[in-house]
Amino acid sequence: MAIRIDGKALAARVKEQVRAEAAELPRKPGLAVILVGENPASKVYVNGKEKDCAECGIESFPHKLPAETTQEALLELIRALNADPAVDGILCQLPLPEHLDGDAVINAIVPDKDVDCFHPFNVGRMSIGQPVFLPCTPAGVMEMLRAYDIPVRGRRCVVLGRSNIVGKPMAMLLTQADGTVTVCHSRTEGLAEITRQADILVSAIGKTDFVTAGMVKEGAVVIDVAMNRNAEGRLCGDVDFAAVEPKASYITPVPGGVGPMTRALLMRNILTAARSHQL
Ligand code: NAP
Repeated sequence: MAIRIDGKALAARVKEQVRAEAAELPRKPGLAVILVGENPASKVYVNGKEKDCAECGIESFPHKLPAETTQEALLELIRALNADPAVDGILCQLPLPEHLDGDAVINAIVPDKDVDCFHPFNVGRMSIGQPVFLPCTPAGVMEMLRAYDIPVRGRRCVVLGRSNIVGKPMAMLLTQADGTVTVCHSRTEGLAEITRQADILVSAIGKTDFVTAGMVKEGAVVIDVAMNRNAEGRLCGDVDFAAVEPKASYITPVPGGVGPMTRALLMRNILTAARSHQL
């Protein structure tokens, strides 16, 4: 039976460390959070981030804008936040309403306040192993592996999903940790054959019960990044947890796995940004 990786407990430790270090700074770190429109999931995420900030001694500056906000008004706000010395990090909750251009918004945030690590400058720095910030979700996964003494070097890692925010940076960090990495996506042929070779399998697809026991090697480490809602509206991952748990050596639950670590790593990035602004 697999050991369950306790993301909640690890995240609490990371946040406690951030709180202690933030308290030593001359000024409270500040995070500006922009939410456009009424997406219910986005509202939950934003509330969670505000709560995390309060726990970590970080000031949060919420900007809740109506769905009909124009691109120019949004970029104007970002320009003002870029110039605001009380703001160390700027986060614009995605997805944005259809008429807004998410890439332009990401590109408008000054890289030293891009605590999500989505700006091409920060993605580039991370890709060549000279990160300013680390992308929160993949960095949270790496932190979990380290905390449980799970080696990556030389091991076969398979990442399911190739999005810019999870799959690609996840593959990059595993490669930098000397894993031998394969990335799979919706056009991959013979997927189960590939996943069965994984010593470390990271799933970030967004499909409930996609990863079955037959796709997992005996003793594999299984990391479930996904946050899906099943037919009953319950939060769940990509992995058929009940079937895979007996086969894996380590497994992350959903909820209580990668999600809390993502939130905690965001707090760490805000601290990093605040330090660089208060030197
Ligand atoms: P995304 O942008 O929708 O990307 C999904 C990826 O899965 C794509 O690369 C897609 O392939 C691939 N895919 C879809 N169906 C597939 C299939 N049948 N076989 C193989 N690959 C398939 O999603 P995302 O933003 O990366 O998020 C993925 C999941 O992680 C979601 O459940 C999301 O809610 C969750 N998430 C969780 C956290 C957290 O903190 N825990 C953070 C971010 C995201 P193509 O590229 O070919 O389309």
